[in-house]
Amino acid sequence: MDQKRDYYEVLGVSRSADAETIKRAYKKLALKYHPDRNPNDEEAVKRFKEAAEAYEVLSDPEKRALYDRYGHAGLQGAGRAPEFHDLGEVFDLFGDLFGGFGFGPRRRSGPRPQRGRHVQAEIRINLLEAARGCRRTIRIRRPEICPTCRGTGARPGTQPRTCEYCGGAGNIVHVQGFFRVQSTCPRCNGRGLVIDEVCEDCRGRKRIEKEVELTVDVPPGVESGMQLRLRGEGEPGYSGGPPGDVFVDVHVEPHPLFEREGRHLVCRVPVSFTQAALGAELEVPTLEGTEKYTIPPGTQPGDVFRLKGRGMPGLHGRARGDLLIQVNLEVPRKLTPEYEAALRKLAELEHTEVTPHRSSFLERLKEWLSFPATRQEG
Ligand SMILES: [Zn+2]
Ligand SMILES: [Zn+2]
Repeated sequence: MDQKRDYYEVLGVSRSADAETIKRAYKKLALKYHPDRNPNDEEAVKRFKEAAEAYEVLSDPEKRALYDRYGHAGLQGAGRAPEFHDLGEVFDLFGDLFGGFGFGPRRRSGPRPQRGRHVQAEIRINLLEAARGCRRTIRIRRPEICPTCRGTGARPGTQPRTCEYCGGAGNIVHVQGFFRVQSTCPRCNGRGLVIDEVCEDCRGRKRIEKEVELTVDVPPGVESGMQLRLRGEGEPGYSGGPPGDVFVDVHVEPHPLFEREGRHLVCRVPVSFTQAALGAELEVPTLEGTEKYTIPPGTQPGDVFRLKGRGMPGLHGRARGDLLIQVNLEVPRKLTPEYEAALRKLAELEHTEVTPHRSSFLERLKEWLSFPATRQEG
């Protein structure tokens, strides 16, 4: 770069100019030398950058003080000497000063990149599939780039052409005195391109809805209500943006034998009175098949026995859950004559040998029955 000009001189303001004056001076120069207004004018670009550099320093009180005392040399320290090599840097820094008007093809050429939409799907699996993990194929509908026109929207053999009205910028700028007002180009609706002959397959929409098959890998231990994410399998992005994702809702169907409590499984096993009283070897179902389990004599209704590590696999490396065997005491609804005879014998026995719980209950019952009587008397 050749000899740097004095920043005050560049902006055409006095050394005592206030912040507002400096800002106004800079805006005026920025508009005058704006690359959009001076296409292919190297000198204008140079002036544009020079003005930005001067404004960068003089709008910052600290930098301005350094510059006032030591001149350009005072700004040689780290990050203090602004030099704009790229116009984009100027726009990044001061873009809001311009009120966001179009900066030509360097920036915002066409619409902004935008992520494609996410797509929802769902799968139903049974408990064993949830326990072991499984692979499912799902069919979803998602918009895809039209293969006929390859996403241009124009009939094959033709091309969309640059909108003449806005020059491809997608918006037009009205200058009203100092202000610039930007609005969407009415001819191309902001696309910057005009299609003369539209593609017949997508009718110029560039995308067509398509049914696709996707493979879902369901990890072992998955639970109802969880969502699996297939990254990048959603709708394609717009203007170079990334595609959306597919979110798969998982439903695990209820199992006739196992009830799920997170990682644990509960299985209610029917047990007869004699089995509970005498203890018994039960055959209990597990995810792997069946297993023998011995309940002790005197097992009570609702008692729970825990088979450690026989439940559902844990997600994210968590340990496997337990299988809880809950005793479900079963009382026969119908009795065979032999069964009834045996029970009657048992009942006689119960009369003579009263169990401790029953004796204390009977005592409390007696007290309860006598209580209202004493109150009435009193
Ligand atoms: Zn098409
Ligand atoms: Zn246009």
